[in-house]
Amino acid sequence: MPRSFDVAVIGLGAMGSAASRALSRRGLKVLGLDRFAPPHTFGSTHGDARIIREAYFEHPAYVPLVQRAYLLWEELEREAAKRLWIKTGGLMVGPREGVLVSGALASADQHRLPYELLDAEKIRARFPAFHPDDAMVGVWEPRAGVLFPEACVSAFLDTARRHGATIRGDETVKSWARDGDGVRIETDRGRHHAARVVLTAGPWNGGLLNGLALPLAVERVVQFWFDPSGDRTLFAPERCPVSIWEHEVGRFFYGFPLLERGVKLAIHHEGETTDPDRVRRAVGPEEVGPLRILLDRYIPAADGPLAAASVCMYTNTPDSHFVIGPHPTIPQALIVSPCSGHGFKFAPVIGEIVSDLVVEGWTRHDLGMFGVTRWK
Ligand SMILES: Cc1cc2nc3c(=O)[nH]c(=O)nc-3n(C[C@H](O)[C@H](O)[C@H](O)COP(=O)(O)OP(=O)(O)OC[C@H]3O[C@@H](n4cnc5c(N)ncnc54)[C@H](O)[C@@H]3O)c2cc1C
Repeated sequence: MPRSFDVAVIGLGAMGSAASRALSRRGLKVLGLDRFAPPHTFGSTHGDARIIREAYFEHPAYVPLVQRAYLLWEELEREAAKRLWIKTGGLMVGPREGVLVSGALASADQHRLPYELLDAEKIRARFPAFHPDDAMVGVWEPRAGVLFPEACVSAFLDTARRHGATIRGDETVKSWARDGDGVRIETDRGRHHAARVVLTAGPWNGGLLNGLALPLAVERVVQFWFDPSGDRTLFAPERCPVSIWEHEVGRFFYGFPLLERGVKLAIHHEGETTDPDRVRRAVGPEEVGPLRILLDRYIPAADGPLAAASVCMYTNTPDSHFVIGPHPTIPQALIVSPCSGHGFKFAPVIGEIVSDLVVEGWTRHDLGMFGVTRWK
């Protein structure tokens, strides 16, 4: 006899692991499935470090969500008894009128967040690793920091199991379909039945929407780790906050302090469009070139030997906002595809939203920008 669950969660990266925890904590019988053994390095949730920040340049509507996420990350830390993040503060650097600085200021002002606006000289004095151009300014926000994604996913899954969830790795969902009031899920290891299904397959979500075409584009992104060439103390978390740089209008890179593998940096949104089953996993030696040019100019002491590189994937929407909501023709299914390269920090609040939608049918969180049918 096939086993029956209240909810099946397809994909256990950031969002699916968070959803599995939130749903199982509310007493539901949860089945979590992943094609690999999470946390793993094949999706969007690996690479040691993710930025959490509050003065959200992308849109002020994200601020209440990230504020709730901070509380939920702390709650998860307590329940899992694991260190999941460190506070470093954050610096958004660029031209005063650019997307990054003006957007961060708009969010900070609208939500009365603490911040300082620093000119280039003040940035160089306070954070000596950073060499902004004279015309650049920086928005300093004190609560930003580094989340450890692999530890976070493990914590979500460990606590989900403790709350009774069945978590199965190395099991690929081949298809799912409405079956009476619920859904039937076919995998490479068998068949499952559940009342509801949550689609959190990240870059693979587009292939699991049962005929629904959403404008999702998967982007290959390389994360690089450098061994600092000079004074390593410049990159200690107390002296080197997480930072995002708008070096040309609409072009960004971001970086972290020195962690175990080195100083991690990446270029935001300039990768090739790809297919998650065929993504180029190898990183060519020439690929670091564009980032080295930026480091030479803005963070020269980080521009030492390349310690590691790893390919990751963004799942982008045309407006870079998330997709969260019921499938338009199959109400038993929830689509949760919140990436566009900035979703990780929100994982616990997205888990909470999923559990609200499944259990109550509504959530107090504002999902206005995230509608599944907004491109019609
Ligand atoms: C390089 C990089 C840097 C980033 N930096 C930041 C940052 O600093 N701050 C931030 O907030 N966000 C950041 N992000 C974005 C954030 O990491 C992602 O939004 C988030 O991790 C996406 O999680 P997910 O659960 O949607 O996808 P994934 O983590 O990819 O999870 C999807 C899961 O579904 C599984 N799956 C797929 N198909 C199937 C199937 N058929 N059957 C079973 N399982 C399946 C996969 O194995 C995978 O485990 C970054 C992303 C990248 C790539």
